[in-house]
Amino acid sequence: MAKGAAAAGEIVQRIQGTYPKATYALSWKTPWELLVGAILAGQSTDVTVNRVTPGLFAKYRDAKAFAAANQGELEEIIRPCGIHQAKAKSIIGAAGMVVAKFGGQVPKTMDEMLELPGVKRKTANVVLNCAYGVASGIIVDTHVDRLAQRIGLSANNTPEAIETDLMGIVPKGEWTTFGPALILHGREVCQAKVPKCGGCVIEANCMKVGLPGGVAKPSAIVSMDGVKPWTGALPEIPGGWGAVLSKHLESEWFRTLWGFVKAEAEAGQVFPPESEIFSAFEYAPFSKVKLVILGQDPYHDDGQAHGLCFSVKRGVAVPPSLRNMYKELQTDLTIAAPDHGNLEAWAKQGALLLNAVLTVKAHTPNSHKDRGWERFTDLVIDALNESPKPVVFMLWGSYAQKKGKRIDESKHVVLKAAHPSPLSAKQFFGSKPFSQIDAALKKSGHSPMNWKL
Ligand code: SF4
Repeated sequence: MAKGAAAAGEIVQRIQGTYPKATYALSWKTPWELLVGAILAGQSTDVTVNRVTPGLFAKYRDAKAFAAANQGELEEIIRPCGIHQAKAKSIIGAAGMVVAKFGGQVPKTMDEMLELPGVKRKTANVVLNCAYGVASGIIVDTHVDRLAQRIGLSANNTPEAIETDLMGIVPKGEWTTFGPALILHGREVCQAKVPKCGGCVIEANCMKVGLPGGVAKPSAIVSMDGVKPWTGALPEIPGGWGAVLSKHLESEWFRTLWGFVKAEAEAGQVFPPESEIFSAFEYAPFSKVKLVILGQDPYHDDGQAHGLCFSVKRGVAVPPSLRNMYKELQTDLTIAAPDHGNLEAWAKQGALLLNAVLTVKAHTPNSHKDRGWERFTDLVIDALNESPKPVVFMLWGSYAQKKGKRIDESKHVVLKAAHPSPLSAKQFFGSKPFSQIDAALKKSGHSPMNWKL
């Protein structure tokens, strides 16, 4: 789902240029009033908040007055904004701290703002960005959250991680204005239910993630509670892939995934060995990929997995799915089965032999499913999908075919057949995948594969 740096920069420029005077839509006269408005705006609308605050600020004129307010009375006034009990408690608590600790003035740093009860990064950024012009970060409200993912500026789905991604894209001098500008774009054009894509100023660069005609949403990640994001050096992805995926590799979800893999390896055994997790990318550099064969999970028995889907090293017994592929290769192209299961020779011709999940706990199939590898491999497919050079995708079985929904079939060739596993071998035999691939490669301007191993 990556946007290239140039495309992301253009999106930022166009959004900023379209809404040069965008401001946060709350009515306020002082930083304290903006802080109260921002607390009230949580899970409410700015229109509702702006209806409530004139009366509220007439009754309580400053932080000192709010600190002395009767909570029950305050709750009644702010009731239309919802969650009124918790909000009243937060406002009175924040007022007390502003008076006692900050001399009655709303503080001007993120660390100090986050000390105030009920204040999280979004609320703090609203005040710091809009009242003080401090580039503390970028406001991520519900609109920015939705648009950042939809446009393709972030593959994350938590406000904190989305903000980190945006801070990496938007020049720091524009942080204070980008949030309000994107919010306005979300209100006026890219609305939640029916975005007005026709005529949208960034349509040419928008990935329309999750929308008809756009790329599919990135794969979900199950809870990684208790897993610490990896703070050490990240793995180097060979074959130029590291540069293509660089923005995502710094994301919190990838650091957490890598922290998970490291912890699993520390606690037991993980396949393939760390040095071979990214072998598929080494053999098939980004610029040379002409074919993608998609597998699911690495082999989980000793010595089998070595980073290429379906493949095992020489000397390791050929697994059943690969035996079936060899049988079909014989039927389809009269190429005899080799005496080994090593598919490196295919990979070196530009065939990306990619599993959807790149690691597995020893002897525990599917154990690293839903931890983030699917999102990583989504991004690999998205990067190829975005590339102008046509690529042939061979999708065996429903799992691969589901993932293949990300591919733009008007640009690339998508071939589908049953999976070669013994469970679906009857449908797989006779599907002639190898000759189909060769025909598609030739039609796409590539040389056919030399399937002989
Ligand atoms: S092109 Fe459509 S989805 Fe993308 S930002 Fe514009 S309105 Fe939203």
